[in-house]
Amino acid sequence: MNIHEYQAKEVLAKYGVAVPRGQVADGPSEAEVIAREFGTPVVIKAQIHAGGRGKGGGIKLARTPEEAREYAKQIIGMTLVTPQTGPQGKKVKRVLVEQAGAIKKELYLGMVIDRAVSRVVMMASTEGGMEIETVAARTPEKILKEYVDPALGLMPYQARNLAFGLSIPPELTGKAVKFMMGLYKAFVETDCSLAEINPLVLTEGGDVIALDAKMNFDGNGLFRHKDIQALRDFDEEDPTETEASKFDLSYISLDGNIGCMVNGAGLAMATMDMIKMCGGSPANFLDVGGGANAEQVTNAFRLILSDPKVEAILVNIFGGIMRCDVIAEGVVAAGKTLGLKVPLVVRLEGTNVERGKEILAASKLNIIAASDMKDAANKVVAAAGQAN
Ligand code: ADP
Ligand code: MG
Repeated sequence: MNIHEYQAKEVLAKYGVAVPRGQVADGPSEAEVIAREFGTPVVIKAQIHAGGRGKGGGIKLARTPEEAREYAKQIIGMTLVTPQTGPQGKKVKRVLVEQAGAIKKELYLGMVIDRAVSRVVMMASTEGGMEIETVAARTPEKILKEYVDPALGLMPYQARNLAFGLSIPPELTGKAVKFMMGLYKAFVETDCSLAEINPLVLTEGGDVIALDAKMNFDGNGLFRHKDIQALRDFDEEDPTETEASKFDLSYISLDGNIGCMVNGAGLAMATMDMIKMCGGSPANFLDVGGGANAEQVTNAFRLILSDPKVEAILVNIFGGIMRCDVIAEGVVAAGKTLGLKVPLVVRLEGTNVERGKEILAASKLNIIAASDMKDAANKVVAAAGQAN
């Protein structure tokens, strides 16, 4: 789960991580009041779940409270397009009004879980503010890393190593170490999967502060953090994915035009690969789970059909625990209730497969039967192609 910058800064501040003074505003006059209270200059920052806002025009420096009002008016309600939002952009609902720091140096500091070594890694780079992915790809030696022993936690010497590597002046090392230790504590205690401070800045006034903050949380740990769960902003999430989670369906929307309904994550991945191999493009990943019933199948169909990009559907089910006849009944029921209009290719295999095929054939729905996965993928790609 992702949260907004202003929320991440509030979480981090509780752990002693230094952040600029800031407050969120829902409208222009509120922004002006905050700017007057803080004293100008302030920075007006669009709050969306995506980075690259600076480049997209979502961050403005206001020299007077009136200017703060004007910029907030411009930014709130705008559809901000950044390299991370995709071409459709994201609508801005509120802004963070923040005291503008006199920046001396912009650095990068991030934490993720490195699954290859099963450890949290703290990464730092002098190349802050710009796209860290480019730095990592082109000049990986510019990313410093400290792997954390889970039993010991981040050790102060590791934080000092990073501070030294970043050429942080000796008089600021103490502040940098405190910052890193706080970030690590926040990361572990809130079950983060990613925490990123880009840029981490050294100010003219001799402070080490987070000008930007991004935190992602492990969804499986959220049940123990009700306070963080409350920060969830459904407007920022894909509505179909939100709907799917209500039905315990694993659904991820993608860019293609072939809707997929599969049981088992592995088979779902393989099905998407097969569609690609046959020259098509999946509209989604969807795992209906091992014990799905007719109702689950209907819910899954409704989700797939709610995506206007879908031009054909592929159902690929291996009936192990779940019997093929039950699935077939579900497919027929869903097809009838939802008034299926796009071509539907079905590949069934496993327990009671013959009975399942009979049910599909007797249904009078426009179902294209497939004998195996390759056949199914070829047929669905052809069917989607005809829709154009
Ligand atoms: P994004 O990563 O979405 O572009 P950031 O919060 O990193 O947004 O801001 C982009 C740039 O704007 C920063 O690199 C920094 O130069 C400037 N900036 C952001 N917040 C402040 C602030 N409080 N004071 C001064 N400059 C800021
Ligand atoms: Mg940033």
